Amino acid sequence: MPNRLKKALNLLHSYWDLLMARTEQHALPVELSLGTTSFCNLKCVMCPREGSDGNLTPFDDHLGMEYFIQMKPYLERAREISLYGLGEPMIDRGYFEKVRFVTSHGADVSLSSNGTLLDEKRCREVIASGIKAIGISLDAVCEDTFKQVRPPGGFDEILENVKRLARIKKELGSPTPELHISFGVMKQNIQDVEKFPDLGREIGADILVVHPIIYQSRYAERTLGLDREVIAEAAGRAQKRAEELGLRFVYWDLDSGTFLKSLDHYNAHQEELNPRETRANGGKPKAYCHFLWRNAMIQGKGELFPCCYLSNLKVGVVENGNLRDLRNHPVLSNMRRSIFEGDPPPPCQTCPQMVPYSRKQILKNAWRELKQTLRHG
Ligand code: SF4
Ligand code: SF4
Repeated sequence: MPNRLKKALNLLHSYWDLLMARTEQHALPVELSLGTTSFCNLKCVMCPREGSDGNLTPFDDHLGMEYFIQMKPYLERAREISLYGLGEPMIDRGYFEKVRFVTSHGADVSLSSNGTLLDEKRCREVIASGIKAIGISLDAVCEDTFKQVRPPGGFDEILENVKRLARIKKELGSPTPELHISFGVMKQNIQDVEKFPDLGREIGADILVVHPIIYQSRYAERTLGLDREVIAEAAGRAQKRAEELGLRFVYWDLDSGTFLKSLDHYNAHQEELNPRETRANGGKPKAYCHFLWRNAMIQGKGELFPCCYLSNLKVGVVENGNLRDLRNHPVLSNMRRSIFEGDPPPPCQTCPQMVPYSRKQILKNAWRELKQTLRHG
């Protein structure tokens, strides 16, 4: 059966799971987040790798090519694959072999990089490998700020690398990868946000993304934390400037405390993970989580996490392609159930991935996405 048809059938299956409000998913993931390496050459102040309370994502591990081969049935059915995790993908010497293997199964692949290693050869490989979008986080508009938030620094070199990628893309007439440049706002860099659109235009960004950072420890909350309203105001001014420059701009209003709420909740209320626990809806608003419904986030040597915010909650290790079983682990089914029942656990309560549950809207989305899948895979 062609992969496009497998993807379409799996997509329908996945929407059916949602329409039936299944806490255990029968479909395979429509989206996969696969971290190929957890090595990194920066020491960003907001990164969970550095001084996090309870972070369980692996450190300094590669996910080998053999792992990707055993994931074949999932790659054939997923529509979108994020090939990165908590590490710098360009450090992985086998990265582009993995990208080519994944893209050969017809999924849209995206990459997130810190931009430090994007030399001429890698820029050309990024373009040739068929990656649809690349995200590069700058979090600054000058070296002074950059080296405070992303030590040891190297801002000017990264700017040159980004410009190089934009230039080669233009020379080759390639529409991909779309270049997303992002800015995670914190105390140390908020003064730079307004100037971010001008920098974005200078280096050839296609889309600018601004968002509050997620605190990964109490220490980070104290040293980096800012009021959400203050960040939203600064982002509003940046958005206005981006509009004047004709640049696409996205503000992602994350709750900086999601990880810490997760830490409190899952450490202190383990009994709430009891799979047999059921609760009536009690008239509470029903919702669902985009991640828990259709995504699977795999890091390190195959560890599965509920989503990128809950890096303190390791569900298990995906081995020999057992993702189907692990995705329905009681921890995850229980989270889906409590969200469906309008009683989400604390870290989920203000999460932007929570979507109001409307059958009419779900059917509309299913029809739109099915048409896209049959057209493009
Ligand atoms: S570049 Fe990414 S993975 Fe590396 S330290 Fe910074 S935030 Fe962490
Ligand atoms: S709603 Fe909860 S599980 Fe879903 S992405 Fe947000 S924090 Fe993660």
